[in-house]
Amino acid sequence: MTTDTQTPGSGAVSEEERWKYLDHIRRTPGPFTDPDATAEEYLAQFEKFKVFGAGGLGCEILKNLALSKFKDIHVIDMDTIDVSNLNRQFLFRKSDVGKYKAEVAAKFVENRVKGVSITAHNKRIQDFDESFYKKFQLVVCGLDSIEARRWINAMLVSIAEESEDDPDGIKPLIDGGTEGFKGQARVILPSMTSCIECQLDMHAPRAAVPLCTIASIPRQPEHCVEWAHIIAWEEEKPFPKLDKDDPEHITWLYEKALARSQEFGISGVTYSLTQGTVKNIIPAIASTNAIIAGACCNEAFKIATNSAPCLGFENNYMMYSGNDSIYTYTFKHEKKDDCPVCGRQARPLEIDPRTTLQELLDSLSIRPEAQLKRPSIRAEGKTLYMQFPPQLEEQTRPHLAMSISELGLEDKQHVVVTDPAFPLEFNYYLKFKKASQE
Ligand SMILES: [Zn+2]
Repeated sequence: MTTDTQTPGSGAVSEEERWKYLDHIRRTPGPFTDPDATAEEYLAQFEKFKVFGAGGLGCEILKNLALSKFKDIHVIDMDTIDVSNLNRQFLFRKSDVGKYKAEVAAKFVENRVKGVSITAHNKRIQDFDESFYKKFQLVVCGLDSIEARRWINAMLVSIAEESEDDPDGIKPLIDGGTEGFKGQARVILPSMTSCIECQLDMHAPRAAVPLCTIASIPRQPEHCVEWAHIIAWEEEKPFPKLDKDDPEHITWLYEKALARSQEFGISGVTYSLTQGTVKNIIPAIASTNAIIAGACCNEAFKIATNSAPCLGFENNYMMYSGNDSIYTYTFKHEKKDDCPVCGRQARPLEIDPRTTLQELLDSLSIRPEAQLKRPSIRAEGKTLYMQFPPQLEEQTRPHLAMSISELGLEDKQHVVVTDPAFPLEFNYYLKFKKASQE
């Protein structure tokens, strides 16, 4: 423990000493390294690596990458530091509250690890275009939104497809994510292996509690909170619009939920449970973040050095669960031919022809393989519903109440769905359900 606690740069640990073991791995050829390269070439190649990381696992990833001797790192995060981050995002101090996460984290790690250059971007990943992402060899993501993951995935697949035979066009995407005690680390070789969109059903939206349970027979404290949130609020409208960040509003919901829970003899309704349920907060656990970020950065190190086989062509997905003791499982997620990002085929969209267009659009937000919040839809030669521009929205709005058959759509007909959050088109063909299937 003694050497670990000494401050680097104080003279206690020389730079040579600090990197001794790491450099040994990087200099020594192994069974997986290029037999023609010299030790110097290895080191030089590694130092050219540009890596970019972003998001909620950011502190861990940034620290790990710098200590793995990646030299040129870019970090993107648009968030500012909140006091609630301080318990686990260890690069931030109280005096940093309100400042940009990317900037503070970059400065901290640069000060601590000599020789690393970290460029901070206080932006969204969507604010950059292809020419920016083309500069990197490796992308490490610890994003907290599925939308952002899908976006960067589509970007890297399109770069890979465009550069066809150029191996530099394939920028491995290492993605980590956690949810409480659970997490995953996966490696995507864009256009070659199963991508995030292929794996989207692994992130199925949480099953909602049926409204009847909430309305009539609550069994859990969360059901009481949902009752206050969905039913009591609508009936009483204590404030014009629910603001989930306003303590007064949450207090109102909490008191309503508490009264209901007492009526049904359910315990466990607290202010923070109310806030968590309404805002759908899953607690972030520092150690899960450390495990997942560690797994991701080890894969980054192996990809850069070829020192050992990494996740990729064969097994490409590692899931970790600490919910019930510890369990991990690594498997190969297959590429899907009908993936809207990396596949070539249209997907079936199973539907009863009596369904209205509105119901069809609503279903796109909960279908695990779609998860589109603001879809527009068109068929060949026919604009069915467009969210934008406003004139077109108004023109197509009457279609929403019409059924699929009233709109003249046929079984096996192709439809194209778009959503402003994604720079791509989702190709589907309608697959009519027979009435007897119900
Ligand atoms: Zn795919």
